[in-house]
Amino acid sequence: MPDTPICANGARVLADLNTLRKIGAYKTGVHKPTFSEPHMRSLQWLAQRLSEAQLAAAIDGIGNVLGTSAKSGPKLLAGSHLESQNYAGWLDGPLGVVYALEAARVLNPDPAVAGAVEVAAWCDEEGHFGSFLGSRSYVGAVTEADIDAARDRGSGRTMREALSSVGLAGRPRLHAERGRHLGYIEAHIEQGETLERGKLNIGVVTSIVGIWQYRITFLGEQNHSGTTRMEIRKDAGLALARFCVAIDERFPRSCGPRTVWTTGRITLDPGAPSIIPGRAEMLFQIRDDNPDVIDRLEKLLHGMADEATSQGRCSVAVERIRAGAPAMMDAAFQDAIEAASAVFAGGKSLRMPSGAGHDAQVLATIMSAGMLFVPSIGGISHHWSENTADADIVMGAEVFVEACRRLLAR
Ligand SMILES: [Zn+2]
Repeated sequence: MPDTPICANGARVLADLNTLRKIGAYKTGVHKPTFSEPHMRSLQWLAQRLSEAQLAAAIDGIGNVLGTSAKSGPKLLAGSHLESQNYAGWLDGPLGVVYALEAARVLNPDPAVAGAVEVAAWCDEEGHFGSFLGSRSYVGAVTEADIDAARDRGSGRTMREALSSVGLAGRPRLHAERGRHLGYIEAHIEQGETLERGKLNIGVVTSIVGIWQYRITFLGEQNHSGTTRMEIRKDAGLALARFCVAIDERFPRSCGPRTVWTTGRITLDPGAPSIIPGRAEMLFQIRDDNPDVIDRLEKLLHGMADEATSQGRCSVAVERIRAGAPAMMDAAFQDAIEAASAVFAGGKSLRMPSGAGHDAQVLATIMSAGMLFVPSIGGISHHWSENTADADIVMGAEVFVEACRRLLAR
């Protein structure tokens, strides 16, 4: 194995990203919902590029693009996604796909490199129709019945209709061939401000946090808001508000260093200004990479609910509606990314968990996985103003290609 680093072509990476940005452009970002015309055009664009990396391209029956190599030796799978959130940023997804393409273009034709990088664009990472449907299909976790049931969260259009409208209905879905890949690597924008704040260039992802979700229900008594004296009210809305505040007071004493929690939706029933709500509900989410922390917080939630029920006028019930397993990134992948950062990013890297979900967490269920972050300007993402400095994009590509080279040479 040669120990001379082989370099990414930064200008080519920027040009490709800007080409993808023009497809479905919206202000300085893009609007490419899953199976929209600009999304499909982006998939076609990638499929056409793959031959430059000596890869055979296929778009499968769920909209995954896969480039496979006939070269002998180990195979490393790399990729991300090409659809976007609605009216969102240009780098969330395409950055990882273009880095993967670049690694394949640089390493695959090189006879000194044993093995090849294979490229994937996973469909619907952004969850217009479901949750990681493309990558989950690839690892064998999506049934035909799941596809029958999937609908666009905005329009309600079924996934079957969408697949047939873009000409993918009836195509076979490609599945991971066990043992083919030494692992999966994905690059992504950080979507937070940790790297920027620390003046760092590369995030070496240690884990992708799990997401736990709860429905917390408050039962009181619905009554007239004009005639019911304050002393005798059983106001479920007020009980909910107090509970929300109590969580914020008590969680910090039991949480981990990076635990985050959010009340994302509150509904009051019946939700009218002249009626005391008899029922209230909140959807509550906790993210962490340590299930022990979640256990502790979940017990605390139940304890608080019992306390509120016994003291107050309303009964409180906590129901877990989603349990997430955190995905740990492979140690050798972290080491390879860190070593590549030492060569191309002056060692300005940081090991950090990902608070956002990524396809790598799905691939990690069947193979070793690793992730690399580049800084997001102002920590902004899921908005059309999302951006990363060109110099950071280029440096990230150099680190990514070098990390792939090191993983193939292991
Ligand atoms: Zn993304």
